[in-house]
Amino acid sequence: MLSSCCRRLLHVLVPSFPPLIRGLRLCPGHLMKPLVVFVLGGPGAGKGTQCARIVETVFYIAKACFNFLILPASAASLVLGLQKYGYTHLSAGELLRDERKNPDSQYGELIEKYIKEGKIVPVEITISLLKREMDQTMAANAQKNKFLIDGFPRNQDNLQGWNKTMDGKADVSFVLFFDCDNEICIERCLERGKSSGRSDDNRESLEKRIQTYLQSTKPIIDLYEEMGKVKKIDASKSVDEVFGEVTKIFDKEG
Ligand code: ADP
Ligand code: AMP
Repeated sequence: MLSSCCRRLLHVLVPSFPPLIRGLRLCPGHLMKPLVVFVLGGPGAGKGTQCARIVETVFYIAKACFNFLILPASAASLVLGLQKYGYTHLSAGELLRDERKNPDSQYGELIEKYIKEGKIVPVEITISLLKREMDQTMAANAQKNKFLIDGFPRNQDNLQGWNKTMDGKADVSFVLFFDCDNEICIERCLERGKSSGRSDDNRESLEKRIQTYLQSTKPIIDLYEEMGKVKKIDASKSVDEVFGEVTKIFDKEG
């Protein structure tokens, strides 16, 4: 009875949800390489906001399948919980802020100094934090091999560090670029600063962060653009409008 239900469920899923099935095809058995989408854009462009929405989007298939499968209610709610795109969000900035707070970390003070100055923290620290999170996520669940890496690579040093450490160990699918006017970015971060408690959400730090973005990060985006790997989105629109564009990309790319 159960296996016949599973067969019928797969029969419904396969034609209806290409991103899920593509993910499964890319991940045969336990031999999975991390699949990475780099998420870039100026400070306040909305990277974190949109990544959270990508992660939170779930399949609403239970209602559609319920009558067909005649599943008990508990099984239907399980089906509802399926993530549509199956990504884990890793924010380089967030990982660095967490590390700074860790009293046992030898890097706390150094990280604070860099963040306040809007400068880019040495790559060894950032990569070791990203790699640790990726390894832990996949160790807990081998199917969770898709990552949105937000705020990385932010400069040439980041990119070289990634290539050196992760070459052959992870595949970069594409770069999701949130393109947003600098003044809009600053206004959003100042607004966020009213409640974020972040030491860098003030005008002085923001001017420096925008300069760092233009001088160091934008050239990395341009480099990926030359390789045809950039998916650019107008991030000055509303959260819902931006997410509408994001969805189109992930529905196609998986
Ligand atoms: P980033 O991760 O790129 O620094 P966030 O996602 O934290 O940016 O967004 C910065 C601030 O702007 C947050 O307070 C967020 O609520 C707000 N925000 C994000 N996207 C939009 C948008 N499209 N329109 C208006 N405000 C936004
Ligand atoms: P964010 O949360 O993305 O706005 O990043 C906040 C700050 O964390 C940046 O201004 C940098 O100081 C630091 N940071 C974030 N990402 C990186 C990175 N990839 N490499 C080094 N430093 C970073």
